[in-house]
Parts: sequence; C-alpha cells; structure tokens
Amino acid sequence: MPNKELLLIPGPTPVTDEIKAALAAETWSHTDPRFVRIVEHSLEMTRDLLGCHDGEVFVVAGSGTLAMEMAIVNTVAPGERILVLSQGYFGDRFEALANSFGVEVDVLRSEWGKRVCPKLVEEQLAKHEYKAVTVTHVDTSTGVEADLDTLVPLVKRHGALFVLDGVCATAAVEENMSKAYQGNPDYKIDVVLTGSQKAIGVPPGLLVLGFGPKALAAREAMERIPAYYGDIKNWIPIMHNPGKYFATPAVNMVYAYEVGLETIMKEGLEKRYQRHRALGRAMRAALATFGMKALADESVAAPTLSCVLYPEGVEDAAFRSALAQRGVVVAGALASLAGKAFRIGHMGNTTLDDFKRALRVMAEVLKNMGKDVDGEQAIAELERVFHENLK
Ligand SMILES: *Cc1c(COP(=O)(O)O)cnc(C)c1O
Repeated sequence: MPNKELLLIPGPTPVTDEIKAALAAETWSHTDPRFVRIVEHSLEMTRDLLGCHDGEVFVVAGSGTLAMEMAIVNTVAPGERILVLSQGYFGDRFEALANSFGVEVDVLRSEWGKRVCPKLVEEQLAKHEYKAVTVTHVDTSTGVEADLDTLVPLVKRHGALFVLDGVCATAAVEENMSKAYQGNPDYKIDVVLTGSQKAIGVPPGLLVLGFGPKALAAREAMERIPAYYGDIKNWIPIMHNPGKYFATPAVNMVYAYEVGLETIMKEGLEKRYQRHRALGRAMRAALATFGMKALADESVAAPTLSCVLYPEGVEDAAFRSALAQRGVVVAGALASLAGKAFRIGHMGNTTLDDFKRALRVMAEVLKNMGKDVDGEQAIAELERVFHENLK
C-alpha cells in the first residue's frame, strides 16, 4: 500500500483514524437523544476550548468564512463602523465582508510578513469610534501571529468589541475568552470564530463561534439583522436544547467534531499550545538548513503554519508537484508571493514523525534540483529545537 498522504497545507489538516471512523458511523436522527448527548458534550468541550463560560458557543454547519460573517452581522449594524487590522489575505476578507453588509470599514494593513504597528492602531482608535475591531490571530497567507497581549487591552480601552479570527489558531494557540488581560475584567476577547478543519483537525464543514456577554448585548440591541441562517438568535435556543429544530445539523460532522475535541482535551490545552509553539520553531529551523527562510521574522512567526521563501533556483510548481508525487502536499503562496514561497501547516494532530518524513522527502526533491542539502541534518535540527522548546 502506498504511504498515507501527508496533507501539510494550512488546512484542511490530517484527520486521525478515530475521527474518520466517527464520520463513517450510522447517521442518526438529529433529534435522537443519543445525538443530542453528543451535541451537548461537544458544546461543553467547546466552552472549555474557548474559555467561553459566561457567553454562548455555537457549532453550526458552514465554513470559517460564514463564521466571520456571523461575527460581524450579529454585532455591527449597517452604517456602523469597524476597524480591520489586516496582516494578509484573510484580514482583507473582513473588509470585503463588511462592505457586503453596508458596514463602514477602515483598514490598517501591515506589510506582508509583519504585524500592524500598535502605535498606528492607537492613533486610529483615537480618530473614530469603532463598534468592533477585527484581528486575524494567525494570517494564513503570511504565517504572522497577532500579539493579543498588546492588542486586547489597546482595543478594549477604546470600548470596541474585540473580534478574533482564530481559523488558523484556535486549539493550537491560546484563545481564552475568560482571560482578563492586564488583570482588567473589561479587557477580554468578545468573539472568537473558527472552522473545524485547521488547528482543530476535523474535516471541513463546521464553524465554531464564541460570543461573550458584550457581543451578545450588541446582538440584543439590534432588532433585525441582514441574516437568517446566520442570526445567532435563531441558534441560541438550539444550543441550549439541541433536541429542538432550526436547521438540520451536519450529524456525522458533529460526531467527528466530538472525537476531535476529545482528542484535543486528552492532550490538554496547555500541552497542545506548547507543542505547536515548539513545532513551529523546529520546522523553521529545520527548513533554514535547506537555505529556506520564513517570510515572518521568528519573533512574530506563527506556531501553526509558515510561509517559506524559495532559495534561488527552486521553481514553485516543480517543487510542490515533486513533493506531492511523494505523498507530501504543501500549498502555494498567495497574491504577490505566488511563485516565490510555499506554505506549510504544522498544526492540528500532526506529529514530529510526520515532519521528519516531510523533511526527508523535501531533501530528496531539492537534491534532484541540484541543491546541496542534507535531510538527516535537517531532521536533527528539527528534533533539537523541538525538544529544547518543550523544556
Ligand atoms: C481558512 C481561513 C479562513 C476561511 O475559512 P474557510 O473555512 O475557508 O471559509 C478565515 N480566516 C483564516 C485566518 C483562515 O485561515
């Protein structure tokens, strides 16, 4: 049998056999008490995952983009203004989305590979009153991680809602809605949104949302919103009593999600966050031995994925297709970086062995392209940096 394909794109991420088995189980009625228990257990674990204990969590069929949309339309009315902090492609998506709903939007954009400067954020927040500020925790186009310790207090001091896109971070980088930043109970994340297929490690198909008390109050303050399926008011009764019907849940995806969250909770959130940070650093160090440098400086680089620049003489399409022929799938870069870099995910339920295999295959491909590289040296560097960072 050929080697199992190693899907190292920034999502979907590899799905474990246990999760796949859950997907293949008998489809029960969505009102069957046995299914209701699975939903309740999944929601309970979701509350723990997001630290969302005094708000509401939602698990609904849809992708991360619908979660972004629900986060905006349920908190911001048409004509109100938001500030988007964009560190790449998915940051920019908030601007397009806000435009579609008649929400006024200002954007602060960083150079790709850098963070938005907090000083500029401060200045911008002083200029206007914003209903919400959107932050992409890890922008999947650049591999840059936003600094929540700086941004949450900054935004909350100005009274805007803090909306966090966690699609490439949730379950791999801490996102705790109960955390009072700088010890101030007003300095909390108001909305976390994500999809099932990235750091959570479940196939695509579910969105996950956490709404804190202030975000819920923002929805309450609006009579009608330009959404029906995406209106959290239609979902709150279902999340409280999953035996009720609003729209048919993706039954088998919920089975898979339950097992996915059990996998996460069994590992432990703290351990999982540490593992991801160590793995990110280790992969970048290992790739550096091939003369491949990450776009983002190590001080801002994400635990979950890296955007890696090609050295001279390595052609993007040829490199990626040679890897794919050997069972290792990485992604191309987006926009102006297309052809100049590739993106590799190191998140979810991936293991150190997966990355040893990936490095071995990359070394073989690079050698065939005439590069003088050493796969075993890269693997030694991977292991050294990984274990050093686990302490
Ligand atoms: C993938 C991604 C999205 C979009 O999610 P879909 O599930 O593709 O709709 C949004 N934000 C970030 C940061 C992402 O990585």
